[in-house]
Amino acid sequence: MSHSEISPSNAHRWMRCPGSVKLLRKVPPETESSEDASLGTRKHALMAQFAMLFQSSLSIGLHPTDVVAADFLKSHPLATDEMRDGIFDNQLVEYAEYLMHNPNDGKEPARVDIESFLDLSAVSPGMRGTADAIIYRHSDTTIEVVDYKSGSIPVTPHANEQLMLYLIGALQMTSDGLCSRNGRHLITIAQPSVETGPLSFRSVTVSIDTLRSFMFNAKTKAAAALNFKNPLRQPSNEACRWCRAKAICREYHEWAGADVLIDACDKEGCFKISYQLAKRVLDNRKWITALIKSCQDYAIGKLNGGENFPGYCLVEKPGRRSVIKSDEVKEYLEALFGLDALQPVGVGTLDRLGRENDVSIDFAITRGEPKMTLAPIEDVSDDFKTEEGNENE
Ligand code: SF4
Repeated sequence: MSHSEISPSNAHRWMRCPGSVKLLRKVPPETESSEDASLGTRKHALMAQFAMLFQSSLSIGLHPTDVVAADFLKSHPLATDEMRDGIFDNQLVEYAEYLMHNPNDGKEPARVDIESFLDLSAVSPGMRGTADAIIYRHSDTTIEVVDYKSGSIPVTPHANEQLMLYLIGALQMTSDGLCSRNGRHLITIAQPSVETGPLSFRSVTVSIDTLRSFMFNAKTKAAAALNFKNPLRQPSNEACRWCRAKAICREYHEWAGADVLIDACDKEGCFKISYQLAKRVLDNRKWITALIKSCQDYAIGKLNGGENFPGYCLVEKPGRRSVIKSDEVKEYLEALFGLDALQPVGVGTLDRLGRENDVSIDFAITRGEPKMTLAPIEDVSDDFKTEEGNENE
């Protein structure tokens, strides 16, 4: 068993759908992470490293303003130009200040563990986790688990399984553990309200009784997921959203209304679809779209792993085109087309302006790496051919 099969970060899934753990063993491993995921990983690492720098500076008596976030980003290999040009440096400072000062009295906490490794074997053998930060305030015996989320889809700390598990791990590192502790327990999400906005900190208090019953539930679900012959598979929005087993999950197909889609495709022409059927397809469009994506990922995973997937092969797709964001290019575009240099412009707009003015726009366009993509072996009809993509539209 790989340890990450049952971990705090996927607890939202296995606690709702224990059967997903065994089903996912049949799905090919992910070959590449999405752009969003890799940006999120960079931001997480930068947040943690800056907070550690801030912490060590305070410990040797420096003033917080002596640590300049913009300079930290300027030379850091993980920082992107957008982070350096935007207000990400403000988020770094907000996060570090939150960890190092009590928001109520401004005092430094007794201890702050950043990127804290947690042993959660008490919940499931071999389970591990890393909390973004754990704050121990001995003055009021509060323990607070803080999790940074880089995405702009709001995440609530309320009944958040991942943070509840981190809290269990944090409590088990204290002498009074989970048994007799009377202090306050907080779980906090630090997240920008919009991607480029300031960080907001949302906290909830968790009682020790809630935590004990949560731990019992987590232990039961983890044991079922790993040890039952046919653990329950229970589709839901929260469980299925990121689950990579959709393509092969019967329960998901039923829940997502895949039968509705097949019914609709069986009709001889779209004009014959009744309003009721069209409505059912539209009602389920989110789940149906996710199912199609999951089937594509499943087939690509098999082919990438050297296996056969009947009727399909991988073909090279040209990289996405995007506008080069340099001052020089902006100046050229302003001179050629009278564009406002401060306004971002998309590839489609440049294509149109180039055609209308009979000017080549190649100097302003860059192309990403080609990617392998799925294509039917027999079917070469235009409707399946993947278009080369444009960014910045
Ligand atoms: S798709 Fe949903 S129901 Fe199926 S295994 Fe995954 S989480 Fe469970």
